[in-house]
This record gives sequence, C-alpha cells and structure tokens, in this order.
Amino acid sequence: MIKPKKSLGQNFLIDKKILQKITSLTDLENKIVLEIGPGTGNLTSYILEKNPKKFFVIEKDNELVKKLQDKFNDQLKIINDDVLKIDETKLFKNKVIVFGNLPYNISTEILSKWIVNLKDSFWFECLILMFQKEVADRIIAESNSSNYGRLSIISNWKLNIKKICDIKPEAFTPKPKIESSLLFFYPKKNFIKINNPNNLEKVTRIFFNQRRKMLKKPFNQLFNGDQKVLNKLKIDLKLRPQNLSFETYYKLAFEYENLRS
Ligand code: SAM
Repeated sequence: MIKPKKSLGQNFLIDKKILQKITSLTDLENKIVLEIGPGTGNLTSYILEKNPKKFFVIEKDNELVKKLQDKFNDQLKIINDDVLKIDETKLFKNKVIVFGNLPYNISTEILSKWIVNLKDSFWFECLILMFQKEVADRIIAESNSSNYGRLSIISNWKLNIKKICDIKPEAFTPKPKIESSLLFFYPKKNFIKINNPNNLEKVTRIFFNQRRKMLKKPFNQLFNGDQKVLNKLKIDLKLRPQNLSFETYYKLAFEYENLRS
C-alpha cells in the first residue's frame, strides 16, 4: 500500500458515480487526453474506458509513476515531472482534453500558468478540473460579490467557465477537511487582446490591494490620473474594486499596456 503524501496533495478520488460523471462530460473517443496528477490511476482507468487516441499523464511522484507503469503498461505516455515545469504549448500541437483532480496547494498556480502562457491559439479543447470549493468559488465569482477578485478576472479573460458540481470529502481517500468543486473551462472565441498578461496581473494586483477602498488611489498609481482613460472607460472613482466588471479590467490592462509601449 502507498502512503499518501500530504505535501503532494494526495487525496485520491474513489467515488464511482463522480468518476463516471467526470468522464462523461465530453466525448473522449479518439481524442488526445492529458491528465494532471493521475495518482493511483482511479480517474485514469475511467478515461481509458472511453478509448482516447492518445493519453498523456503528468505525475511528479516517482513511487506512483512505477505503480502506474505496472498497472497500465503502454496504454499511457507517462511524463514523470512537475506540471509547473512543463510547457504544454510546446508539447501539444493538437488540441487536448485536460483532466485534473489537482493538488490543492498548487491548483491556482497551475491554472494561472496555463492562462498566462496561452499564445494566439489554444493548446486545449477544454479543461475539466477539480479545486478546493473555496478556490472554485473565487474562480467563478461575478463582480459585486465578495469572492470577486484577481483570480476571477484572470480566469475569465480567455475562458468560459461552468460549475459542474460540488463534491463531498467522503468521495476521496484520505478524506480531506474541505469540500471540492468540479469546473469545466472552454476557450472564448473573443476576448480583449493584452499582449503581455503581466499587465493584467499588475492592474488587478494594484486595484485589489485594498479592496475596501475607493478606486481613486490605485487608478492614480497606475494612470497618473489620466482623464482620457477615465472618460473612455466611464469609471466612477468613488466605486470599490469589486464594482468594476470583467470587461473594464481587461480594458484597463489594455490601456495600461498602450501607455507603456
Ligand atoms: N487523479 C488522482 C485521483 O483523482 O485519485 C489523484 C489526485 S491527487 C489530488 C493529486 C495528484 O497530483 C497526486 O497524484 C500527486 O502526486 C500529483 N502531484 C502533486 N504535485 C504535482 C506536480 N507539481 N506535478 C505533477 N503532479 C503532481
């Protein structure tokens, strides 16, 4: 028996109904599939039943990789590495369906990396990912809500996001202390072009630095009180950061980028 490693966020999904649900969300027959952190291979087995054309997995834990090799032989292309070190845009030329019951300690880092690294075209067809519920609530939050912030704005920039369901701790072993949520992401056809995503990160960081304060201070810090930008985007500086829409933040990042180029 393998002792689950807390440091690698190892909570293995064992609920058959949920495993079935996850793998029925989209057609996998003859598709290229990538699973992040296959662990003991529970979700992996369900994916294989759907006959993908090629199936890649990225797993950091060497011990689990040996088990996966024994269990699945050449049915999988196993990449024994840290997902944060991999450049998927180089690895995949055709669109991939991505699954991941993500290690919770790095789940937002993985998602942000994928969004920030996206080039002109998408390397994935969709992402089917499990997060800690509290993190998922921040990803899907709308403006004017307390969960709305940097993570929602960055996640919604190029992706449509649908919540599939919440999942109780009993669905995993070992049982985590928190609830989880399953999210489905797919590419947007249209989005505001920001050449350097660091500009969106910077704009949202500075605006949400003091989320209870009025917009005046962060706006002046970034735009030096530029009246033209204010008029163009019709921003009321007496509002708070959570009152601005997604679009306004993307436009602000676009304007910020233009001012600096
Ligand atoms: N998919 C399995 C399941 O649902 O039963 C396991 C999910 S478990 C929450 C997270 C998995 O990600 C573990 O197998 C863990 O070893 C792996 N992992 C953790 N950090 C990783 C990293 N940086 N790169 C790749 N895999 C990682």
